[in-house]
Amino acid sequence: MKKLQVFFLLAVLFSFSCVNRARENSNSAYTGPIIDMHMHAYNTPNPLFGEASNPVTGEKRYGSENPASHKEETFEIMEKHNIVLGVVSSPDGKNKVLKEWSRSKPGKILIGQSVVDPDKLNADSVRLYFKRGDVDIIGEVMPNYAGILPNDQRLKKVFDLAEELEVPIGFHLFPGGPAGGAYFAYPLTRASQAKPLQMEELLISHPKVKVYIMHAGWPFLEDMKALMYAHPQVHVDVSVISWNLPRQEFHNYLKGLVDAGFAKRIMFGSDQMTWPAEIANGIEAVNAAPFLSIQQKADIFYFNAANFLELPKGVINQHQNSMVHK
Ligand SMILES: [Zn+2]
Repeated sequence: MKKLQVFFLLAVLFSFSCVNRARENSNSAYTGPIIDMHMHAYNTPNPLFGEASNPVTGEKRYGSENPASHKEETFEIMEKHNIVLGVVSSPDGKNKVLKEWSRSKPGKILIGQSVVDPDKLNADSVRLYFKRGDVDIIGEVMPNYAGILPNDQRLKKVFDLAEELEVPIGFHLFPGGPAGGAYFAYPLTRASQAKPLQMEELLISHPKVKVYIMHAGWPFLEDMKALMYAHPQVHVDVSVISWNLPRQEFHNYLKGLVDAGFAKRIMFGSDQMTWPAEIANGIEAVNAAPFLSIQQKADIFYFNAANFLELPKGVINQHQNSMVHK
C-alpha cells in the first residue's frame, strides 16, 4: 500500500480541488464524490464497440465508436457524476492505454493489471510496472474466461504477487459476458466456476491480501454471505449487476448483502466496458435502492472504497470537498 500512498500524495499536488462541500440534504439521492472500482479502457477496437445488443434484453445498446471516443465519453461522465477516482484495467492486459488515461487525469486513475490465464502472467513485468508506478492493483483477475476455477492452484501465483507488492486484488467470478455466453462468445466459461466459496483456500493462504469480488458474486448470495462472514478481508463491487439485471433482482441481491451486515464492504463499480452511459445507470440503480440510508449510499459510493484502498486522510478530505458537477 506504500506505493498507493505516494501516488495519492502526488495526486493532492496535481488536483484542482473545488470549494463546495457535497452535501446530502435528504434521505434520497447521494450526490457526493464517487469512487468507481471497476472500469475498462481499450488499446484497440474490439467487437464491443459501436452497436451491440443488451446482454440481457437483446435490445440495441449503442456504445462508444472507438477507444479514443470511449475515453472521452468515460471522462465526461466522471466529471458529470463527480467520480473522483477510477480503477481502470484493460481487458487485453496491456497497460499502454492505462498510462495515457492516467496522464490525462492525474490523480484520478488507478491502474489495474488484468489477468486471465495465470500461466501467462509475467510476474517480473508486473513488478517492473509496479516500480514505475504503472500498476496499483491486480485486477481484473478473470480466470473463468480461461476455464480456470477459483480453487485452481495456478492462481496462487497471482495472490503471491499481490502479497509481495502489497496491492489488492479485484477478482471476477460471475456473471462474465452475456447470458448464454458459453455458446457463442466465451466457450470455456461455466456457471459452476463462479461459486464464491471456491476461493477459500486462496484467501486462507494469503490472509494479508485484500480482495474484492467483482459483480459481488451474483447470483450466489448465500455463498457470498458465507465468504464475507468467514473472511473479513473480502469486499465486493456491484458493477455489471447494477445495470444489466432486472432492477428488482439487483436490489434483492444488494439488500441480501446489506441485511447480512456487510454494508461497509460493498463498493460502487460500473464495469462500463464500451458503454460509458452505463456508469450513470449503475449510479442511479444504487441511488434508487429504497432500503439504503443516505449514509449507506455514501459508504457504497465512496467511503468503503476509500477505506479499502487506504486513501490518506488528506485525499479523502480533498475528495469530500470536490464540487458536484451536475
Ligand atoms: Zn470488468
